[in-house]
Amino acid sequence: MNASDEGRLIIISGPSGAGKSTVVRQLIEQCELPLVASISATTRTPRLNERHGVDYFFLTEEEFARRRRHGDFLECKQNFGLQNWYGTLKEQVAAGLNAGKWLILEIDVEGAMEVLRHREFDPITIFIHPGGLDELERRLRLRGTETAESIAARLETAAVEMSYLTRYRYEVINDTVPAAVDEICQILQQAKELNECSKS
Ligand code: ADP
Ligand code: 5GP
Repeated sequence: MNASDEGRLIIISGPSGAGKSTVVRQLIEQCELPLVASISATTRTPRLNERHGVDYFFLTEEEFARRRRHGDFLECKQNFGLQNWYGTLKEQVAAGLNAGKWLILEIDVEGAMEVLRHREFDPITIFIHPGGLDELERRLRLRGTETAESIAARLETAAVEMSYLTRYRYEVINDTVPAAVDEICQILQQAKELNECSKS
């Protein structure tokens, strides 16, 4: 396998409502790299447009706990004061990397720090935010998927998450989606070139 066939991990974090899912979806469509999104497991209720095995693996509390005890997660955590669990499945990471994919983990800051503690990975870390908490609140409200309680919890968490910004290699302000997609695609293309240089 040559350097360009090797899988890579990409971590994308940022406050809920920053536009991560929107940007990642378009990035995968438009950027000419073998990008694929890792599908996380969660105990939260699916939103109207979400599908099991596509957006998340939606698990019961019991099933999530069983898989946690079984050691199936690379990282997992309980999020947002609303008691929902989220976790990255080891099998998703192994399958993606073994297939030579550039696997995107769209995970929260604590999950990201946990993955970074696993020294065998050298993830490209990207922090996305909308430039201000007011805009974040506007996007969460416009998305129309959260209760008032959930929005409040997400905004409270966002302030803490922003303090992790400097732990990421790249900061991307999601002002417009096309610009954010272009910027991230360029970051990844540069990483690919660097990778090839260092291996040649
Ligand atoms: P996240 O995955 O970070 O929680 P989403 O991708 O669900 O965020 O985006 C939150 C809301 O903001 C959605 O309604 C989405 O359409 C909207 N959105 C995403 N990016 C932008 C942007 N650059 N400008 C305005 N609205 C955006
Ligand atoms: P949402 O409920 O809006 O889909 O996601 C809420 C938050 O959970 C987001 O910040 C998202 O990045 C994070 N998240 C999603 N999947 C995982 C995961 O597997 N692990 C961790 N640690 N966080 C996750």
